[in-house]
Amino acid sequence: MGTMTGPLFALVLACAQAAPPTRYDVSVDLRAVPASALRGPHIGFAEGGQGTVRHLSVDDQGLAILSNMGLSWTPLPGPPDTIPAPYHTPVDMVDALDGLASTFPETVRRVDLGWSVDGRPIVAVRITNAAEPEGHVRVLGAHHGDELISAEVALAFAKHLAATPDLTASLLDHVAVWVVPHVNPDGVAALTRHNARDVDLNRNYPYQWSSDEFRPGNAPLSEPETRAIEALALRAPPSLGLSLHSGATNFGWVWNHTVEPAADAAHHQLVAESYAQWCTAEGFWITNGAEWYPTNGDTNDWAYGYWGTFDYTVELSPTKTPPADQIETWIDAHLDSLVHTVNDSSAFRGHVTDRITGRPVRSILTRSSRGPPFRTTDDGRFQLHLSDFGAPIEVSAPGYETHGFEPTSSTAAIVLTPIGRSSDRTLWPPVIHLRDFGQLRLDEPASEVSLLPPGRPEQPVEVSGRSLFLTSEGLPPGLWGVVVDGRPLARPLLVDAPDAAPILDRQVLADRLVLELAAGGTGRQAWLYLDGQLQEKQWIDQTGTELTIDLAGWPTNARIDVALHAPGGVVWVADVFNGAWTASVSPPGTDGLDTGLQSALAARPVACGCTSTPVPPSLILGWIWMGWLRRRDP
Ligand SMILES: [Zn+2]
Repeated sequence: MGTMTGPLFALVLACAQAAPPTRYDVSVDLRAVPASALRGPHIGFAEGGQGTVRHLSVDDQGLAILSNMGLSWTPLPGPPDTIPAPYHTPVDMVDALDGLASTFPETVRRVDLGWSVDGRPIVAVRITNAAEPEGHVRVLGAHHGDELISAEVALAFAKHLAATPDLTASLLDHVAVWVVPHVNPDGVAALTRHNARDVDLNRNYPYQWSSDEFRPGNAPLSEPETRAIEALALRAPPSLGLSLHSGATNFGWVWNHTVEPAADAAHHQLVAESYAQWCTAEGFWITNGAEWYPTNGDTNDWAYGYWGTFDYTVELSPTKTPPADQIETWIDAHLDSLVHTVNDSSAFRGHVTDRITGRPVRSILTRSSRGPPFRTTDDGRFQLHLSDFGAPIEVSAPGYETHGFEPTSSTAAIVLTPIGRSSDRTLWPPVIHLRDFGQLRLDEPASEVSLLPPGRPEQPVEVSGRSLFLTSEGLPPGLWGVVVDGRPLARPLLVDAPDAAPILDRQVLADRLVLELAAGGTGRQAWLYLDGQLQEKQWIDQTGTELTIDLAGWPTNARIDVALHAPGGVVWVADVFNGAWTASVSPPGTDGLDTGLQSALAARPVACGCTSTPVPPSLILGWIWMGWLRRRDP
């Protein structure tokens, strides 16, 4: 297709259909125009282009802006009308992943991460031989639904890992590899780059998210698809990640939002060079992401900046969806590179435990010399890649003395000393976490067990002696009571969701209150209330998970509420000392902090001691909370 000038292209589009699409994919020779001059809500960079040529997604206003700048463009070929066989539809892909899990039941498990806007499951396979993996690796395909080859390569990689014994020994005995071929199943079904709400999912992640991007969503993590990937990161923080795309042939490393070199840039470039060495795709090249073109809110920057993951983007093929008879060619071109990249033997592994209780401690590892911090799993395990092996590392967790050490071998067992505590500390809230499934051990055998959601009828569950097997399927996220033979269990059940439980723990010190947040990036601002009156607003650091509230001068018995803004417009309001919280969701397109906060505050449960107010339906949970938590001493 030849180059058209702006008005002619617009005319062609207008003639082709009465209601022109709101988005066009075009190729533009930028020549002397700096890439940064083109960014904004009407023009976004998409993969593709080399030299001075770049591929753009634009809307009608974006076309006008290009015209005014004197730039001409070439329309890029669109996707096929239907998904060409044997490319996988979303339904086919879930079948293929199920098939893989049933062929290798010891190694492969299907895990559902969430649902798309249109209700399609977002499915991962977890590939490992380890009962308790020491680390995690993540491979994502089809953030962009029109890049079908990225999903085929992801699936082929998963099959190859599961079926190749020599990889099993070196990698899968220690590490779980998570593969999500269809991050954007709605986009795949419709063969569109964006999701069903016209959001570019690879601009929707919270690290350095910007509204000044092309279709980045109303807010960071506003989309269920990106929240599903966040849920995976919370559960299995990866040391290494690969985000597969197509439309070009290159390997890119952070940062993507700025050309300032990342702390580990030299190491990232070595990883890129190694990938390129094994890759047989013609003309494959490597680049820093932002030097190719800058983007905000992409997967790599979030993974590296917030989680410490060494996360890369691989552009697999010049055509987003190559002809079906080339699928195997592109798989062959990349399979060795993918295997060598994930099979990095330089990983540093270990776990963190409490000196007194021996229990695992969820912690943050900070390299003193460079780079963003790394987060352990909930059970205190970590695997990370060090580009500066031997340099000092600090391990910190709320309520513990910070521990410094210098790695001397490839593993480490780290023990943290609690501050001001000589016995097992009370967790706040004292919850049992339930992710996709779990087993509870009861103190004594029971015959009848039911789950008790606040304000709803009991739901009986199956019990076998002292063992209780639960699955979160069908359970709405939130806090549920557990009733055993007619008596409530002292610890509520927390059914996990990306937005659940913003506060994991609290420490009440003499003059301040320290809250441990589930994720710093998910609560952007905290508003503090004293006896219902707004006192102050605090910004929560992008990478921090601790929120310190200065209590000096506050009345001893005041009620303190903390409101946290979470992704998707969810606002949580926690009554800090009485342990009750409520959540509400603000309407799409509004600022969740304002509208959501008002409704959450209005829906707050009554404060303890207000006996004249009607008894809330969550009476049993209220008793539990009051019994455990109505104390200001740690
Ligand atoms: Zn892409």
